[in-house]
Amino acid sequence: MIVIDGKQIALDIKHEIATEVSNMLDHGKSAPHLSTMIIGNDGAALTYVESIERNCREVGFISSVYKFSETTSEREVLEAIDFINKDDEIDGFILQLPLSKHISNEKILEKLNPNKDVDCFTAINNGKLLLGEERYIPATPYGVMELLRRSNITTEGKNCVVVGRSNIVGKPLAMLLARTGAEGNATVTICHSKTQHLDKICSQADILLVAIGKPELITEKFVKKDAVVIDIGIHRIVDPNTEKGYRVCGDVKYDEVAPKTSYITPVPGGVGPLTMSCLLLNTLKARKLAGTD
Ligand code: NDP
Repeated sequence: MIVIDGKQIALDIKHEIATEVSNMLDHGKSAPHLSTMIIGNDGAALTYVESIERNCREVGFISSVYKFSETTSEREVLEAIDFINKDDEIDGFILQLPLSKHISNEKILEKLNPNKDVDCFTAINNGKLLLGEERYIPATPYGVMELLRRSNITTEGKNCVVVGRSNIVGKPLAMLLARTGAEGNATVTICHSKTQHLDKICSQADILLVAIGKPELITEKFVKKDAVVIDIGIHRIVDPNTEKGYRVCGDVKYDEVAPKTSYITPVPGGVGPLTMSCLLLNTLKARKLAGTD
């Protein structure tokens, strides 16, 4: 059994990005610029934005944050998006969702220039992904595909089971695995909360990819011997036996499942770190698409 080191792969990607940025600067070009918008004071969202800024610094990107209070009107947010759309110095833009109740996600995303939509939230970018003409790949599925590729795990002809069908993880991931091309060409089954006999379907998988948001639901009986298991879930659960009083785990019961697998991602340290690196990759691509690199 091989434990896939997501932290190392994420660092490798960041190192590759930093090298490209350094080349850009050497050629007198400016660094890619990633901008984030946050509305309100949600602690988790603020922490995520801080992490984006730190990661941008680490690879040499410029970052900026548009902070609005919870009472900001929809019109003001739309005006800010318009400004960001027109600002040639901003390459990529991330909108922290969900927005306040009085602001329509749809209206804001409709307004956003798809060239700057590095989170791949807009309908046009999702449509392009579906057609195999992708501009950007949503960061977490992108991270999973990079983990597989860089671990030399091929998908062609494999039976892949994706558990979870969210718009940001399960659906795009299934599409990427099934698309034409050597890094796709899998036979893909998508499961969700209404799936019958989930354990039986999962136990047919050569590659089992889990994004359900239910701590340790996937146990040994869901997994075929020598399968590859990719755990996308991340949870902090109460554990009085630990010093901190909690532990971090995934959707897979790791200790029970790992010995049965050929490859497995741990939580933490598996898929999680890849999401940020792939967001940075999308921003680098945004700069290249803008033709200003
Ligand atoms: P969502 O809650 O949006 O989607 C969960 C999906 O799982 C739904 O399709 C749901 O089915 C399905 N599901 C829920 N319960 C079951 C069940 N008992 N059996 C089968 N399917 C089930 O979650 P996300 O996709 O946003 O996230 C999933 C997990 O991944 C979470 O733990 C999240 O924290 C983590 N995550 C990790 C990231 C990372 O960077 N590592 C990034 C994003 C998410 P239905 O559609 O029928 O409701």
